[in-house]
Amino acid sequence: MKSLNEFIDTYKDYPKKGIEFKDVLGIIQEPRIFKELIIKMSSSQIIKNAEAIISIDARGFIFGSAISLQVSKPMIVARKPGKLPGELFEKNYSLEYGENTLSIQKKALQKYSTYAIVDDLLATGGTVDCVSKILESNNKEVIGVLVVVELMKLEGKLKLNYPIESSITF
Ligand code: AMP
Repeated sequence: MKSLNEFIDTYKDYPKKGIEFKDVLGIIQEPRIFKELIIKMSSSQIIKNAEAIISIDARGFIFGSAISLQVSKPMIVARKPGKLPGELFEKNYSLEYGENTLSIQKKALQKYSTYAIVDDLLATGGTVDCVSKILESNNKEVIGVLVVVELMKLEGKLKLNYPIESSITF
């Protein structure tokens, strides 16, 4: 059987020169592989110990929503600018190849206190750090982070003070 990392394509110099973009979309083109991955991610203690999942725009939604369905836990979204209605918590952040802003609906955070953050990939950790800071500044607890891919040489883990689990490392 092929290993998971064979479903991840690498694009050099995308979206900027010097970046090696790891494209996880090959995984969802293989339902058996996708299912196996979701079952594995769903069995994590991080998911078990969190009341809710918070997944990050946009590829994080693919994995976060599948896990949410698998474990019957609620999912909340952190989105890029201009995508969410209502009152928002917003924060700027830097990621491997630029800067952006993430927003979370204030209403969405009212019901739950403990969260598992889900994204496709951990690079410098700036994106996950942004979400965790929004949560923590609202007295919410981050149980941990689940990503499909972790880029080890960027040492994103060093920025983050909670457990990080990845299924593939490069
Ligand atoms: P960072 O904040 O640097 O950890 O970047 C993580 C976020 O940016 C994730 O949401 C990824 O989708 C995206 N990202 C950053 N670097 C890469 C990369 N080399 N390949 C694919 N996605 C990336």
